[in-house]
Amino acid sequence: MNDQLLPSEEHVLSTLEKDGTRRWIYPRLFQGKYWKMRRVVGYLLIIVFIALPHIQINASPAIFLNIARREFTILGFKFLPTDTLLLAFFMISLFLSIFLLTALFGRVWCGWGCPQTIYLEFVYRPIERLFCGTTGHGGKPHKSVPISRRLMMYGVYLIISMVLAHTFLAYFVSVSELERWVQQSPFTHPTSFLVMTSTVVLMMFNFSFFREQLCTIACPYGRFQSVLLDRRSLIVSYDQSRGEPRGKISKQNTDSLGDCIDCGQCVRACPTGIDIREGLQMECIHCTQCMDACDEIMVKVERPIGLVRYSCQDEIEGKPNQKLRPRVVIYPLLLLLSVSAFTVTLINKKSFDITIMRNYGNPYIVTEAEQVENNLQIKLVNRTDVPDEYQITVQNNQDVKLEIMGNTNLKARETKTVPLLIAAPRNSFVSGLRQVELVISSKNNAEERKVTCQLLGP
Ligand code: SF4
Ligand code: SF4
Repeated sequence: MNDQLLPSEEHVLSTLEKDGTRRWIYPRLFQGKYWKMRRVVGYLLIIVFIALPHIQINASPAIFLNIARREFTILGFKFLPTDTLLLAFFMISLFLSIFLLTALFGRVWCGWGCPQTIYLEFVYRPIERLFCGTTGHGGKPHKSVPISRRLMMYGVYLIISMVLAHTFLAYFVSVSELERWVQQSPFTHPTSFLVMTSTVVLMMFNFSFFREQLCTIACPYGRFQSVLLDRRSLIVSYDQSRGEPRGKISKQNTDSLGDCIDCGQCVRACPTGIDIREGLQMECIHCTQCMDACDEIMVKVERPIGLVRYSCQDEIEGKPNQKLRPRVVIYPLLLLLSVSAFTVTLINKKSFDITIMRNYGNPYIVTEAEQVENNLQIKLVNRTDVPDEYQITVQNNQDVKLEIMGNTNLKARETKTVPLLIAAPRNSFVSGLRQVELVISSKNNAEERKVTCQLLGP
């Protein structure tokens, strides 16, 4: 069967061998200045990632994404399922920020801030190097690592994966709920146990097996790179004009070759297995390891550092430095608009939300007393953390009768739908319509809201 397949001329994916098997990548570590800076940023971010669900702002976790109740708490702001507009402005602002950040600084998030990169490069790989060592000048583990050492390494991986899984879940179920899960027997609460175990298994799978493939295959961000970046965006790039023609240096060819001595260290250092000398690639997460590698080599061969450096496509190709481009003007303007819209909507939020809806069945009935009755529903949302009581009255319509068919006392953060029966004289309808103004007031917050509802009639 294999004989009938044409051999691949080159690697289709940096993580696959030509025959389609997994190409395991063990990058060689270069502890250059960028790696040292990334390590500081990485460990600080790990502290932030772990602390965020524990930090309390306005008596709620700093970040709490309660998907089950569709409530999202971000830095003290609570978004409820009814906050569609707020959530829309928030998401638009978030996406515009990502667009702007990428247009200016390329994939700086991937290399410096993404938890996948940070945990893999500064937690799991150092543990792997500690237990399995590295061979020669490469990052490959020793072939002869005793099985006991490997088992110990996976044991440490498991403990760290459990910590990470708990941290990850704390964002979605809160720390207090997580504590309850941990204290319960798996047999009495199998669902929570299953969620927890699956998350740990996924963490183990990702960091011990899947690794860089999450960036190169699964994460959509890299695929958007071609549209999010422009020719002035900051990227990690190889200076072709300085490096080529590349080749091993010898006494005879020193003057005829460029600065690249074709040592391959930039490729060995790359955690996604690519060769930066082939230009900007989707797999490049801008981790700067090839920059550190090449700088170290340049120092050794006594040539200026920066053959592989932070730059942009125009600068590398010697084109004029055009700082102002359409996207760095348009994105901030749109971002300003969307953040302003978000802020104004947020400031104008009351302590409760109301929505008036029509009830099921006949839109209206006409009684023997010539009254037209409309069956409506009012949806009340108590946005506060304390119970509240709401009063609903009709304003300036003496001939209209309102019957509230349920109680309007709501617990903290409760949403309740209460049926309303509104009756108005038949002769007060014009072309089958009559407008009525309802006033809804909250007892606790002394706030009131007016809403106009349209009655239907004959
Ligand atoms: S090419 Fe360089 S910056 Fe890009 S992923 Fe590889 S090592 Fe990191
Ligand atoms: S590390 Fe620098 S000198 Fe060595 S191959 Fe890469 S670009 Fe060339």
